[in-house]
Amino acid sequence: MIQRIKSEHDLSWDVETDVAVVGGGACGMLASLAAAEKGVEVLLLEKEKKVGGNTSLSQGMIPAAGTRFQKASGISDSPEMMAEDIFRKNNYESDPEITLHLCKESKNLVEWLVDSVGIHLDIVTDFIYPGHSRHRIHAPSTRKGEQIVGELRHVIANKNNILLVTQAPVRDLIATEADGGVMGLEVEIFGQGINRVRAKKVILACNGFGNNKEMLRKYIPEMADAFYFGHEGNTGEGILWGMALGAAIQHMGAYQAHGSVAHPHATLLTWVVIVNGGFQVNKQGKRFSNEYTGYSDHAIEVLNQEDQTAVEIFDERVYQSVLGFEDFNQCIEMGAVKRGETIEALADQFQLPPDELRRTLESYNQAAEGKREDPLGRKDFQGPLRPFYYGVRVTGALFHTQGGLKVNRKAQVLKPDGSPIPNLYAGGGVAVGVSGSGVKGYSSANGLLAATVLGKIAGEEAAKILKE
Ligand SMILES: Cc1cc2nc3c(=O)[nH]c(=O)nc-3n(C[C@H](O)[C@H](O)[C@H](O)COP(=O)(O)OP(=O)(O)OC[C@H]3O[C@@H](n4cnc5c(N)ncnc54)[C@H](O)[C@@H]3O)c2cc1C
Repeated sequence: MIQRIKSEHDLSWDVETDVAVVGGGACGMLASLAAAEKGVEVLLLEKEKKVGGNTSLSQGMIPAAGTRFQKASGISDSPEMMAEDIFRKNNYESDPEITLHLCKESKNLVEWLVDSVGIHLDIVTDFIYPGHSRHRIHAPSTRKGEQIVGELRHVIANKNNILLVTQAPVRDLIATEADGGVMGLEVEIFGQGINRVRAKKVILACNGFGNNKEMLRKYIPEMADAFYFGHEGNTGEGILWGMALGAAIQHMGAYQAHGSVAHPHATLLTWVVIVNGGFQVNKQGKRFSNEYTGYSDHAIEVLNQEDQTAVEIFDERVYQSVLGFEDFNQCIEMGAVKRGETIEALADQFQLPPDELRRTLESYNQAAEGKREDPLGRKDFQGPLRPFYYGVRVTGALFHTQGGLKVNRKAQVLKPDGSPIPNLYAGGGVAVGVSGSGVKGYSSANGLLAATVLGKIAGEEAAKILKE
């Protein structure tokens, strides 16, 4: 791993470019666009047939503080408030400087995406994620990352200084013997043999190791056998290359999981069902934890139940509130959403004990009406649930990893002494995120925050140095 050479003349090169970007998700596409905007040539390499990665599978929820879209909706927010929400969730474990920097840059990112790149995003005001003190999610109308990816793909196709090649897995980096400075890479295009690319700058945007069992067993053993709901291309090589070049790594045990994947349909049941008033019960018809702590933490609670499943219960009001989510409509189409005129009728559909489920509902409703404390500590309900009732059987799943290479404010990959590895940048799942050390520190939408903001910064910084 990692070919070391004395000088660029030691090898023959098949292609030359200014900036090579590895991975065509949000991070890689934004890095490419930001670099191209500054007038350099970009080669964007994607392993799979289609660009998109986890970004396509996501709900496309991008958090940002202080945007003109928030202001137009009367929302006052600041990077400091946003950073504080992230710190509170991760127990102050994430790098304070990088976390605040991402929050400060999030406004520029979203406004650049809409005003300059031409992507369609709305400020989301119909729900608020647990732990977010302000409405700061910006998302496409379908609430699907696929929409953002489709629009980005279209913009990239019209840039004559970005060459996008799919079915092009990068196999290795090439670096100098002297200082490990990156000089290029090896890529296998359409399975037709290896091509050597001489690149002045390389940006690693190939996400983390969610689909690498060996790395999961080493760093996140509790999820090594869990259902992986992320993209198959994310096999961790970007992190391994960085490590082989002497990069520092951090928080390798951090990850995003999700406690609400329709089972066995394998479709996301949006967490907004919980946020807007739903709850979960186990096979005994009992609630088992405070659902409102967040979807990532809650995955572990679901996986600890019998059969590693739960049933998510909600009512007509909640059902109507999520009908705009494409994922939710997919759950309906696949027959995952069942309806009961009474709670007993719903219990019947999931083979739950009806009396116990009724007691659980009554207790939940009393807490939601403020008549008693919730025994599990939940404080946010949006009101009691009333007939008709709905249910979906769900399981917990691993979505993506959050640990990775240490980077600085310029997205340069760092050695343990804090000096950058020459010519190497990283963002998104390759770089350590802002979610602390485990599963509990993931604040909703930390994933796209790091992918989009660091991607834009990496592209701009790489191009800026080349122009200088
Ligand atoms: C179901 C789901 C819902 C989510 N919803 C949200 C959300 O709403 N908001 C949020 O903030 N986060 C969300 N996330 C997390 C978010 O999707 C990721 O954090 C983010 O998309 C990561 O972006 P990325 O560009 O780093 O990686 P990706 O989008 O995964 O892109 C990486 C790309 O690199 C390619 N690649 C890998 N190795 C190589 C190689 N050797 N050579 C070439 N290409 C390679 C992969 O094939 C892939 O296409 C969600 C995740 C999932 C799974």
